[in-house]
Amino acid sequence: MAYDPDNIFAKILRGEIPCSKVYEDEHTLAFHDINPQAPTHILVIPKGAYVSWTDFSDTASDAEIAALVRAVGTVAKQAGVTEDGYRTLSNTGPDANQEVPHLHIHVFAGRKLGRMVP
Ligand code: 5GP
Repeated sequence: MAYDPDNIFAKILRGEIPCSKVYEDEHTLAFHDINPQAPTHILVIPKGAYVSWTDFSDTASDAEIAALVRAVGTVAKQAGVTEDGYRTLSNTGPDANQEVPHLHIHVFAGRKLGRMVP
């Protein structure tokens, strides 16, 4: 799927729409989900124009990939959820109900999370 530069996360990255930022580095931005599904619900996104894990793993640089993975750990530590635990989730494509076509990792925490089901 071609990257849509008008998707909502692209607008957030350009500063056209506000977000509640929790972390940022050269390659990555993390912010609170606007419709949280858990007491902690953070979205971690690459700054590059990637729709999905497939695009990202095919074309992102090692530095971008490392930054995204490290940002998830940093965000969890910052949120103080590493002891009790947290869940990461990334939806890719229509079968997974990906709503925003810019790669993002959800970080859920702050309550007992239900069992993972497909
Ligand atoms: P998906 O279903 O694509 O995995 O998740 C998209 C997520 O983006 C949803 O959890 C939704 O609440 C969140 N979201 C959609 N629009 C906005 C927005 O404008 N700001 C923020 N912070 N989150 C958004």
